[in-house]
Amino acid sequence: MNNRHVTATVSKVLNFSCVDGPGNRLVIFLQGCNYQCKNCHNAHTIGLCDHCGDCVSPCPSGALSLVKGKIHWQADQCTHCDTCLAICPRQSSPKTAEMNVDQLITLIHKHHLFLTGITVSGGEATLQLPFIIALFNAIKNDNELKHLSCMVDSNGSLSVTGWEKLLPVLDGAMIDLKAWQEDTHRYITGRSNHRVIQSIEWLTKHDKLEEVRLLHIPSITDYEPEIEVVGHFLKSLPKRTTVRLNAFQHHGISGEALTWEACSKAEIEALAAKLKQKNIDTIYRAP
Ligand code: SF4
Ligand code: SF4
Repeated sequence: MNNRHVTATVSKVLNFSCVDGPGNRLVIFLQGCNYQCKNCHNAHTIGLCDHCGDCVSPCPSGALSLVKGKIHWQADQCTHCDTCLAICPRQSSPKTAEMNVDQLITLIHKHHLFLTGITVSGGEATLQLPFIIALFNAIKNDNELKHLSCMVDSNGSLSVTGWEKLLPVLDGAMIDLKAWQEDTHRYITGRSNHRVIQSIEWLTKHDKLEEVRLLHIPSITDYEPEIEVVGHFLKSLPKRTTVRLNAFQHHGISGEALTWEACSKAEIEALAAKLKQKNIDTIYRAP
Protein backbone atom coordinates (compact mmCIF):
# COMPACT_ATOMS: atom_id res chain seq x y z
CA MET A 1 0.00 0.00 0.00
CA ASN A 2 1.21 3.48 -0.83
CA ASN A 3 0.79 6.04 1.95
CA ARG A 4 2.57 9.24 1.11
CA HIS A 5 1.38 11.08 4.21
CA VAL A 6 3.26 8.90 6.71
CA THR A 7 5.79 11.09 8.52
CA ALA A 8 9.14 10.57 10.21
CA THR A 9 11.29 12.70 12.51
CA VAL A 10 14.31 13.43 10.33
CA SER A 11 17.59 14.63 11.82
CA LYS A 12 19.41 15.17 8.52
CA VAL A 13 19.28 14.43 4.80
CA LEU A 14 22.51 13.98 2.85
CA ASN A 15 21.85 14.40 -0.85
CA PHE A 16 24.93 12.40 -1.85
CA SER A 17 27.03 9.88 0.05
CA CYS A 18 29.40 7.13 -1.07
CA VAL A 19 29.91 5.61 2.41
CA ASP A 20 26.35 4.59 3.33
CA GLY A 21 25.91 1.61 1.05
CA PRO A 22 26.83 0.81 -2.57
CA GLY A 23 27.26 3.57 -5.15
CA ASN A 24 26.07 7.12 -4.73
CA ARG A 25 23.20 7.37 -2.27
CA LEU A 26 20.79 9.89 -0.81
CA VAL A 27 20.75 9.22 2.93
CA ILE A 28 17.89 10.03 5.30
CA PHE A 29 18.94 10.05 8.96
CA LEU A 30 16.02 9.46 11.33
CA GLN A 31 15.95 10.79 14.87
CA GLY A 32 15.80 8.42 17.88
CA CYS A 33 17.67 5.30 18.95
CA ASN A 34 16.98 2.38 21.28
CA TYR A 35 20.66 1.87 22.14
CA GLN A 36 22.78 3.98 24.50
CA CYS A 37 26.20 3.35 22.97
CA LYS A 38 29.00 4.74 25.11
CA ASN A 39 30.93 5.41 21.90
CA CYS A 40 28.11 7.23 20.04
CA HIS A 41 29.54 9.94 17.76
CA ASN A 42 26.13 11.62 17.35
CA ALA A 43 24.51 11.38 20.79
CA HIS A 44 22.06 14.17 19.89
CA THR A 45 20.33 11.72 17.50
CA ILE A 46 19.38 9.33 20.35
CA GLY A 47 16.49 11.16 22.04
CA LEU A 48 13.23 12.74 20.95
CA CYS A 49 12.62 16.43 21.67
CA ASP A 50 9.88 17.14 24.23
CA HIS A 51 9.80 20.88 23.36
CA CYS A 52 10.96 21.90 26.84
CA GLY A 53 12.51 25.10 25.42
CA ASP A 54 15.76 24.82 27.43
CA CYS A 55 17.83 25.44 24.29
CA VAL A 56 16.03 28.67 23.25
CA SER A 57 17.81 31.32 25.34
CA PRO A 58 21.35 29.79 25.14
CA CYS A 59 21.23 29.96 21.30
CA PRO A 60 23.64 32.84 20.49
CA SER A 61 22.00 33.53 17.10
CA GLY A 62 18.34 33.81 18.05
CA ALA A 63 17.60 30.88 15.75
CA LEU A 64 15.32 29.13 18.26
CA SER A 65 11.93 30.01 19.68
CA LEU A 66 8.87 28.32 21.11
CA VAL A 67 5.84 28.69 18.85
CA LYS A 68 2.56 27.38 20.26
CA GLY A 69 4.50 25.20 22.68
CA LYS A 70 6.74 23.66 19.99
CA ILE A 71 10.40 24.34 19.35
CA HIS A 72 10.94 26.28 16.14
CA TRP A 73 14.32 26.40 14.37
CA GLN A 74 15.13 29.08 11.79
CA ALA A 75 17.77 27.49 9.60
CA ASP A 76 18.76 30.77 7.94
CA GLN A 77 19.80 32.24 11.33
CA CYS A 78 21.66 29.16 12.58
CA THR A 79 25.47 29.22 12.64
CA HIS A 80 25.70 25.51 13.56
CA CYS A 81 27.61 26.30 16.74
CA ASP A 82 25.90 23.23 18.34
CA THR A 83 25.32 24.98 21.69
CA CYS A 84 21.76 23.62 21.63
CA LEU A 85 22.99 20.03 21.21
CA ALA A 86 25.35 20.38 24.18
CA ILE A 87 22.60 21.82 26.36
CA CYS A 88 19.73 19.47 25.52
CA PRO A 89 18.87 17.24 28.50
CA ARG A 90 17.24 14.63 26.23
CA GLN A 91 20.12 13.83 23.83
CA SER A 92 18.05 15.49 21.13
CA SER A 93 18.19 18.45 18.78
CA PRO A 94 15.87 21.34 17.90
CA LYS A 95 17.10 21.04 14.31
CA THR A 96 15.02 17.99 13.37
CA ALA A 97 12.08 18.12 10.97
CA GLU A 98 8.86 16.18 10.55
CA MET A 99 8.85 15.10 6.91
CA ASN A 100 6.34 12.99 5.04
CA VAL A 101 6.95 10.51 2.23
CA ASP A 102 5.67 12.98 -0.37
CA GLN A 103 8.25 15.62 0.62
CA LEU A 104 11.10 13.12 0.44
CA ILE A 105 9.94 11.75 -2.91
CA THR A 106 10.01 15.32 -4.25
CA LEU A 107 13.58 15.71 -2.95
CA ILE A 108 14.69 12.37 -4.43
CA HIS A 109 13.25 13.41 -7.82
CA LYS A 110 15.57 16.45 -7.79
CA HIS A 111 18.65 14.24 -7.48
CA HIS A 112 17.62 10.88 -8.96
CA LEU A 113 19.77 11.15 -12.11
CA PHE A 114 22.92 11.10 -9.95
CA LEU A 115 21.86 8.37 -7.52
CA THR A 116 22.33 4.61 -7.21
CA GLY A 117 19.92 4.33 -4.31
CA ILE A 118 18.41 5.52 -1.05
CA THR A 119 19.61 4.61 2.45
CA VAL A 120 17.56 5.20 5.59
CA SER A 121 19.87 5.50 8.58
CA GLY A 122 19.74 6.88 12.14
CA GLY A 123 19.66 7.01 15.11
CA GLU A 124 18.01 3.66 14.64
CA ALA A 125 16.07 3.83 11.40
CA THR A 126 13.80 0.84 12.03
CA LEU A 127 12.15 2.52 15.03
CA GLN A 128 10.16 4.38 12.34
CA LEU A 129 9.37 1.27 10.30
CA PRO A 130 5.95 2.33 8.87
CA PHE A 131 7.63 5.39 7.34
CA ILE A 132 10.43 3.31 5.77
CA ILE A 133 7.94 0.86 4.28
CA ALA A 134 5.79 3.70 2.90
CA LEU A 135 8.85 5.50 1.45
CA PHE A 136 10.31 2.39 -0.21
CA ASN A 137 6.87 1.49 -1.58
CA ALA A 138 6.52 4.96 -3.08
CA ILE A 139 9.98 4.68 -4.70
CA LYS A 140 9.23 1.27 -6.17
CA ASN A 141 5.92 2.50 -7.59
CA ASP A 142 7.43 5.57 -9.24
CA ASN A 143 8.52 5.03 -12.85
CA GLU A 144 11.40 7.52 -12.56
CA LEU A 145 12.69 6.18 -9.24
CA LYS A 146 12.04 2.45 -9.26
CA HIS A 147 15.62 1.66 -10.39
CA LEU A 148 16.99 3.09 -7.10
CA SER A 149 17.99 0.45 -4.54
CA CYS A 150 16.31 0.85 -1.13
CA MET A 151 18.51 0.02 1.88
CA VAL A 152 18.53 0.48 5.64
CA ASP A 153 21.47 1.06 7.95
CA SER A 154 20.56 -0.49 11.32
CA ASN A 155 21.84 -1.62 14.71
CA GLY A 156 20.07 -4.93 14.02
CA SER A 157 17.57 -4.68 16.88
CA LEU A 158 14.49 -5.08 14.68
CA SER A 159 12.44 -8.23 15.30
CA VAL A 160 11.97 -10.90 12.64
CA THR A 161 8.33 -9.77 12.40
CA GLY A 162 9.56 -6.28 11.54
CA TRP A 163 12.04 -7.54 8.92
CA GLU A 164 9.24 -9.63 7.38
CA LYS A 165 7.13 -6.49 6.94
CA LEU A 166 10.04 -4.68 5.31
CA LEU A 167 11.16 -7.58 3.08
CA PRO A 168 8.92 -6.91 0.03
CA VAL A 169 10.46 -3.44 -0.46
CA LEU A 170 13.97 -3.99 0.93
CA ASP A 171 17.01 -4.39 -1.34
CA GLY A 172 19.65 -4.62 1.38
CA ALA A 173 20.64 -3.87 4.97
CA MET A 174 23.88 -2.71 6.59
CA ILE A 175 24.11 -4.02 10.17
CA ASP A 176 26.46 -3.05 13.02
CA LEU A 177 27.73 -5.92 15.16
CA LYS A 178 29.29 -3.94 17.99
CA ALA A 179 30.70 -6.89 19.97
CA TRP A 180 30.62 -10.68 19.87
CA GLN A 181 30.04 -11.62 23.52
CA GLU A 182 26.67 -10.58 24.89
CA ASP A 183 28.22 -9.07 28.04
CA THR A 184 30.58 -6.90 25.99
CA HIS A 185 27.74 -5.80 23.70
CA ARG A 186 25.57 -4.96 26.69
CA TYR A 187 28.43 -2.98 28.27
CA ILE A 188 28.95 -0.90 25.10
CA THR A 189 25.33 -0.41 23.97
CA GLY A 190 23.13 -1.14 27.00
CA ARG A 191 21.40 -3.96 25.06
CA SER A 192 21.90 -7.65 24.30
CA ASN A 193 23.18 -8.64 20.83
CA HIS A 194 20.81 -11.62 20.44
CA ARG A 195 18.53 -9.65 18.10
CA VAL A 196 21.54 -8.44 16.10
CA ILE A 197 22.78 -11.99 15.46
CA GLN A 198 19.20 -13.05 14.68
CA SER A 199 18.81 -10.15 12.20
CA ILE A 200 22.10 -11.00 10.47
CA GLU A 201 21.05 -14.64 10.13
CA TRP A 202 17.56 -13.71 8.90
CA LEU A 203 18.92 -11.24 6.33
CA THR A 204 21.45 -13.87 5.20
CA LYS A 205 18.66 -16.39 4.66
CA HIS A 206 16.75 -13.86 2.52
CA ASP A 207 19.88 -12.63 0.69
CA LYS A 208 19.42 -9.05 1.92
CA LEU A 209 22.59 -8.61 3.95
CA GLU A 210 24.60 -5.93 2.17
CA GLU A 211 27.19 -5.22 4.86
CA VAL A 212 28.23 -6.18 8.40
CA ARG A 213 30.32 -3.67 10.36
CA LEU A 214 32.59 -4.66 13.24
CA LEU A 215 33.61 -1.85 15.52
CA HIS A 216 37.17 -2.39 16.81
CA ILE A 217 37.85 -0.78 20.22
CA PRO A 218 41.20 -2.35 21.15
CA SER A 219 40.77 -2.65 24.92
CA ILE A 220 37.02 -3.24 24.82
CA THR A 221 35.68 -5.26 21.88
CA ASP A 222 36.30 -8.97 21.75
CA TYR A 223 36.78 -10.08 18.14
CA GLU A 224 40.45 -11.05 18.54
CA PRO A 225 40.04 -13.38 21.55
CA GLU A 226 36.95 -14.82 19.81
CA ILE A 227 38.53 -14.96 16.35
CA GLU A 228 37.75 -18.67 15.77
CA VAL A 229 34.00 -18.33 16.33
CA VAL A 230 33.77 -14.83 14.78
CA GLY A 231 35.62 -16.11 11.69
CA HIS A 232 33.28 -19.10 11.47
CA PHE A 233 30.23 -16.82 11.75
CA LEU A 234 31.47 -14.37 9.10
CA LYS A 235 32.34 -17.25 6.79
CA SER A 236 28.66 -18.24 6.77
CA LEU A 237 27.57 -14.87 5.33
CA PRO A 238 26.48 -14.57 1.68
CA LYS A 239 28.98 -13.71 -1.07
CA ARG A 240 27.32 -10.32 -1.60
CA THR A 241 28.01 -9.25 2.01
CA THR A 242 30.86 -6.83 2.67
CA VAL A 243 32.59 -7.14 6.06
CA ARG A 244 33.70 -3.66 7.11
CA LEU A 245 35.98 -2.92 10.07
CA ASN A 246 35.51 0.40 11.83
CA ALA A 247 38.38 1.75 13.92
CA PHE A 248 37.16 3.42 17.13
CA GLN A 249 38.16 7.09 17.36
CA HIS A 250 37.35 9.85 19.86
CA HIS A 251 35.71 12.51 17.67
CA GLY A 252 32.19 13.43 18.77
CA ILE A 253 32.13 11.23 21.87
CA SER A 254 31.98 12.13 25.55
CA GLY A 255 32.08 10.48 28.98
CA GLU A 256 33.60 7.09 29.76
CA ALA A 257 34.44 6.26 26.14
CA LEU A 258 36.95 9.11 26.08
CA THR A 259 39.11 7.01 28.45
CA TRP A 260 39.17 4.14 25.95
CA GLU A 261 42.21 3.82 23.72
CA ALA A 262 41.58 4.87 20.11
CA CYS A 263 42.21 2.17 17.49
CA SER A 264 45.52 2.67 15.66
CA LYS A 265 46.37 1.80 12.06
CA ALA A 266 48.45 -1.17 13.28
CA GLU A 267 45.54 -2.46 15.42
CA ILE A 268 42.93 -2.35 12.65
CA GLU A 269 45.42 -3.96 10.25
CA ALA A 270 46.14 -6.70 12.81
CA LEU A 271 42.43 -7.55 13.10
CA ALA A 272 42.07 -7.55 9.31
CA ALA A 273 45.09 -9.89 9.04
CA LYS A 274 43.65 -12.31 11.62
CA LEU A 275 40.36 -12.44 9.73
CA LYS A 276 42.24 -12.90 6.46
CA GLN A 277 43.88 -15.99 7.99
CA LYS A 278 40.31 -17.29 8.41
CA ASN A 279 39.66 -16.50 4.72
CA ILE A 280 37.54 -13.44 5.50
CA ASP A 281 38.17 -10.46 3.24
CA THR A 282 37.43 -7.15 4.94
CA ILE A 283 37.49 -3.51 4.01
CA TYR A 284 38.51 -0.80 6.43
CA ARG A 285 39.82 2.74 6.54
CA ALA A 286 43.00 3.01 8.58
CA PRO A 287 42.95 5.98 11.00
S1 SF4 B 1 23.40 25.22 16.36
FE1 SF4 B 1 21.73 25.48 17.82
S2 SF4 B 1 22.52 26.96 19.33
FE2 SF4 B 1 23.86 27.11 17.54
S3 SF4 B 1 22.96 28.76 16.27
FE3 SF4 B 1 22.06 26.86 15.54
S4 SF4 B 1 20.17 26.61 16.67
FE4 SF4 B 1 21.40 28.16 17.77
S1 SF4 C 1 16.03 20.13 21.61
FE1 SF4 C 1 16.27 19.48 23.74
S2 SF4 C 1 16.52 21.39 24.93
FE2 SF4 C 1 15.67 21.96 22.92
S3 SF4 C 1 13.43 21.97 23.23
FE3 SF4 C 1 13.97 19.91 22.48
S4 SF4 C 1 14.24 18.66 24.33
FE4 SF4 C 1 14.31 20.84 24.99
